[in-house]
Amino acid sequence: MALPPRTRTETRAEEWMRLALAEARAALETQDVPIGAVVVGPDGTVVGRGRNRREADGDPTAHAEILALRDAARALGSWRLDGCTLVVTLEPCAMCAGGIVLARVPRVVLGAWDDKAGAAGSVLDVLRERRLNHWVEVTGGVLQGECSRLLLDFFAAHRRGGDDDAGPPGPGPGGPAGFGG
Ligand SMILES: [Zn+2]
Repeated sequence: MALPPRTRTETRAEEWMRLALAEARAALETQDVPIGAVVVGPDGTVVGRGRNRREADGDPTAHAEILALRDAARALGSWRLDGCTLVVTLEPCAMCAGGIVLARVPRVVLGAWDDKAGAAGSVLDVLRERRLNHWVEVTGGVLQGECSRLLLDFFAAHRRGGDDDAGPPGPGPGGPAGFGG
């Protein structure tokens, strides 16, 4: 059976998600939950990168998306990230979704959905909240299997090690959940 032709946008989204996945894997070096993000500029090149550094920095706000937004703002010399796309391996939490709105990012591409804490449609929908003055276009489920697997493997290993603090939730219909991304 022939697959339908893939659009250029889909191919690029997967290419960008692979870069976010590389960031997520690098978070494992500091025993951080493997979540990664990149910000892609209007010309399609990466202008910011971030990975979860909550453990590395002892900082409850050191989420991949926030660090990627800061990195991109520094690179572009502006807090406004007009025309940029934020690509992240797990659905953003309420804090990160708020940061995305404040940076005026017009588009988010996400890998796995987080049905315990996601704020891009799962629990809350901060990105498309009509009462706010900025709406974000959301594309979900890009390389979802790979993004979920990385998280599930991490929590499975932690369970074996007897460290339950991070709290592995079961994979729900929308994939893994409650990772605090
Ligand atoms: Zn977050």
